[in-house]
Parts: sequence; structure tokens; C-alpha cells
Amino acid sequence: MDVTDGLCTISGSEAVHIIKVLRMIPGDRLMLMDGTGNLYQALIKTVEGKQLVVAIEKLMPPSPSSPVRIILCQALLKSRAMDGVVRSTSELGVDGIVPFSSERTVVNLTEDRFRARARHWREIALNAAKQSCRRKPAQIASLHTLESVISQWEEEGDLKVILWEEEGAQDLKTLLRAAPRRKTFVGIVGPEGGFETGEIHAATKAGFVSVSLGRRKLRASTAAISMVAIVQYEWGDLSLSH
Ligand code: SAH
Repeated sequence: MDVTDGLCTISGSEAVHIIKVLRMIPGDRLMLMDGTGNLYQALIKTVEGKQLVVAIEKLMPPSPSSPVRIILCQALLKSRAMDGVVRSTSELGVDGIVPFSSERTVVNLTEDRFRARARHWREIALNAAKQSCRRKPAQIASLHTLESVISQWEEEGDLKVILWEEEGAQDLKTLLRAAPRRKTFVGIVGPEGGFETGEIHAATKAGFVSVSLGRRKLRASTAAISMVAIVQYEWGDLSLSH
């Protein structure tokens, strides 16, 4: 984004998205993010072919970051469900999304296919960040396995949970209200087919707490979005008082 005397020329895929997909025209306003996380309000001055010129109007105040860093480790889901999880959890302030494959993931992506999907998710996360005036979009990690997710979060300081649809003893609500607040919350959510008990054992052995979201069996995407909202509500900034 090159800015000269308050005017900025946008070209390439971003310009095509604004012109062709969002169908914006001169006189419309839009939010622009530069590479350092600054968010600007801008006014479209001219549109020519696949290029537009905007006038930077103001630097938007940063939305204060949440007191809790939330990392969602999400088993690969079918594309619409996964897009929805990235979009909604980004709006809710998730800091990182770690896609992983597990025993029952029905989606198997080649490296190239994963790279294309990750580019698409990063686009969704960026647009959701702009729309919710976030400074930093959620970071989308490389493709993991459940094993690599579990081993990556060895450090003790975080609260680490795995959402298990068969968990009958401990629920997320009780855990969050009883546990002292941590700086980082890591939550693992399974695929459409759920988790094998062996996977739950491996996670709990590594310090993850198996928790329930109640007796109704939720779709994976519902569970993931609900978990991020609950943590943001209980420990984060889903209020005006944080
Ligand atoms: N077959 C449904 C639901 C499968 S469960 C679907 O198509 O999505 C998918 C994942 O959501 C589980 O592995 C778990 O991580 C989470 N989940 C769903 N309901 C839950 C509940 N009541 N408690 C805890 N986790 C739940």
C-alpha cells in the first residue's frame, strides 16, 4: 500500500475483490490495514479497470487486545464449516488457529491443497479482522497432526483443554470459574467424526483437561465457536469492563 500525500493506489487481487466482489464505487468508504497492523478509514476517489485510488481519511483507534490469548486447535472440517469457524472465531478475537488431522478427520488435504486452503482462511481472517476493527488478524498455522498439537503445548502456564463429546465428569464452565486466570488458553476441537478415546488419553496425559460443553452433541463448528466465545466472555474482552 503506497501512500503519497494522503492518496493510496490499490491494485491486484485486493483491488479486484473491492471492485468486482464488494462492488464498491467512488464515494464509498472502506477499511485498509497496512502491514504493521494499522487500520485506516479511506474514501474511494477513482476506479479505473483493476486499480483504485483512495484518500486516507483517518487512522482508526486500536481495539485494545484481550487479556487472554486464545489458541483454537481445530481438526480439519469440510470447507464451509471450516470457513465458518475461521470467520466467527476471528470476529470473537481468537489469536491463533492450528488446523490438524486426526483419526477421524474426513477431510484429507495434500500439501498443495492445504496451502491453497490456508491462503483462503488467511483472507477470511484478514477480512474478519478489518470488519471487527482488530489490529492483528488471527494467525493460521501450518497443518499439524493431533500428536504435534499436543506436544507443541507442553509449557505448564497455559490452560489447555480438549473438548470431548463423551466427557461426563468435567465441564468447561466449572473449569473456567474454578481455575485461576491464565494468559493463554489452548482449546482442541475435534472433527465431524469426533475423537477416539485413545486420542483423549494422549491429550490428558500431556496436561490437556477433557471438558464437556453439556449433554447436547454439537456440530464441531458450533463447539469451536462456542468455546472461543465462552473463554472470551469469562476471561477476555467480551464486555465493556475488561
Ligand atoms: N457429528 C457432529 C458432531 C461431532 S462432535 C458433526 O458433524 O459435527 C465434533 C467435535 O465437537 C467433538 O470432537 C468435540 O470436540 C466437539 N463437541 C461437540 N459436542 C460437544 C459437547 N457436548 N461437549 C464437548 N465437546 C463437544
